[in-house]
Amino acid sequence: MQQSLLRVVAQLKRAQRILIITGAGLSADSGLPTYRGLGGLYNGHTAEGLPIEAALSGGMLQSDPALCWKYLAQLAGACLQARPNAAHMAIARLQKLKPECWVLTQNIDGYHRAAGSPAERLIEIHGQLTPLFCLDCAAEDGDLPAHLTAPMPPRCRHCQGLLRPPVVLFGEMLGEDSVARLQGEMAKGFELVICVGTSASFPYIVEPLIRTKQRGGFTVEINPERSAISAQVDIRIGTKALDAIPALVSHL
Ligand SMILES: [Zn+2]
Repeated sequence: MQQSLLRVVAQLKRAQRILIITGAGLSADSGLPTYRGLGGLYNGHTAEGLPIEAALSGGMLQSDPALCWKYLAQLAGACLQARPNAAHMAIARLQKLKPECWVLTQNIDGYHRAAGSPAERLIEIHGQLTPLFCLDCAAEDGDLPAHLTAPMPPRCRHCQGLLRPPVVLFGEMLGEDSVARLQGEMAKGFELVICVGTSASFPYIVEPLIRTKQRGGFTVEINPERSAISAQVDIRIGTKALDAIPALVSHL
C-alpha cells in the first residue's frame, strides 16, 4: 500500500469525529455523468444555447418548467440507471465502524443512502431527487421513473400542479435543516476531514475543512484532479475514490 494511504489509515484508526465530504467525482466512478456532461453538452451549454446552470435554475423551473425538466429528467434518468459503487459501500462500512463519522455530500443521486449510510449521519446539502412533490397542493409522488417516460413537465395526479424534486436548483437557497445540521456538527468539531471527488467550489463545502485545519485537525483530499483545496490539505491522494477508499477501509 502506498505510503500516503497508510498515513490516512493511521488517522482513520485514531479519529472518532470524522467528516467525509463527497462530490461528483465519487459518483462519476459509478459511470454517472456530472451535470455538465448531460446530453453531451458542449462547454456546459444546452441545445437552447443556455448555460446548464440557467436551465437547471429555480427561475427556469418557474418560467419554463418544461425546459428545466428536460434537463432534470436527463439527470434523473442517469441517476436511476447507475448504482452506488464500492467507494460508497466502503464509506457506509466506515460509518458502521465509526459511530461519529458523518457524510456531507453535494450529490443528489441518493447513492450514499442506497449504499447504507445512516440517514441521521448523512447531509445531502443539495437535496435529493425523490420523492417529487406538488408545488400547488404539496402532495408527494414517489414514482419518478413513470414520470420520466411521460410528457414534460410532470404533473400532480391530484390537482395537475407542477411537480418538482426536493433538490436545490441553481439560484435557490440551501435547505434550512441541512444547513442547521451541518453547523451543529461543525460546532462540535471534527478531528479528520476527507474530501472525495469534489472541486470544492462552494464555500459551505470548503468551510468544514478549513475550520478543522485551524483547530489542529487532519485534512485529506482524494481526487485525481487538483482543486481549490489541494494546496491546503495535509495529504493529497491523486487517485479516483474507487481506487483509494475501499483500500483505506479494508485496513481498519
Ligand atoms: Zn397537487
